[in-house]
Amino acid sequence: MSMGNYERIIEKISKISGLEKEEIERKVEAKRAKLSGLISKEGAAQVIAAELGINFDNEKLKIEELLPGMRKVNTLGKILNVSQPRVFKTKKGDEGKVANLFIADDTSNIKVVLWDTNHISLIENGQINPGVVVEISNGTMRDNELHLGSFSEIKITSQNIDNLKTEKSFREKNISDLKNSDNVKIRGFIVQSFEPKFFYVCPNCKKKVIQEGDFFNCSEHGKIAAEKRALLNVIVDDGTETIRTVAFQDNLADIGLTNLENMEELILQRERLLGKEMFFYGAVRNNKVFNTPEFIIEKVEEVNPDLLIMELES
Ligand SMILES: [Zn+2]
Repeated sequence: MSMGNYERIIEKISKISGLEKEEIERKVEAKRAKLSGLISKEGAAQVIAAELGINFDNEKLKIEELLPGMRKVNTLGKILNVSQPRVFKTKKGDEGKVANLFIADDTSNIKVVLWDTNHISLIENGQINPGVVVEISNGTMRDNELHLGSFSEIKITSQNIDNLKTEKSFREKNISDLKNSDNVKIRGFIVQSFEPKFFYVCPNCKKKVIQEGDFFNCSEHGKIAAEKRALLNVIVDDGTETIRTVAFQDNLADIGLTNLENMEELILQRERLLGKEMFFYGAVRNNKVFNTPEFIIEKVEEVNPDLLIMELES
């Protein structure tokens, strides 16, 4: 299991400053208390890092360690894919260019956005290709993307990287920072759960089917024995904001609903969800009915009990 941003920052600060992790966490808590809890633990840890004079300037970071808000970032990655440069008009009416690429290392992968024409020419003249390893310096993290401007550098190197982590990466984010189509991990408490909703799908194509008298009809497969499915809406709160989430059948047991057929048991299980803290992995989309962001759960995970104990002790 990968660590959250907060744990990673603490580890980094500890490594660079030589302070014990526990001491840094105490400083973080003191800082948060001073700010009446208005700052996230992650934010407080970054303030502590700055106060200790730590910048992550000259250090080469693994992709997983790149955090929103970091500046002067150095990293190394193998190019997975490259988009064709696009031309856009600036406010002043000048023409600008932008191009994106994805790089990966053995910890994660990230979108890199190039704004400098010299960097973009490396794509145009075919030097930057999938499979090439690049060394990046002086990049800026904007949200969960690494942006390279004219002060940044991107160099092709002969170094190789094995065991690329190419699967979709979920970066941890606060709910208040979520944007449409983000693929993220949030850590929060279930503060409300709704009654599960049931629907039926075709066992062949998994499309929703409707009941017609005694049987179900799939527009493609005709009369079928439908599979009953459930979905669940829960509201998750991480201290920054709340968001409505949608969990489908495959995740219900992991969330804690195992008995959907027995009403009494279901009511008990739903009650037990309240106040439960979990990691929720998924994507943000706009709910068309409410015109509000909604979080589609792809995976849930119990919060590592060891970390919880660490927090309780500090
Ligand atoms: Zn079907």
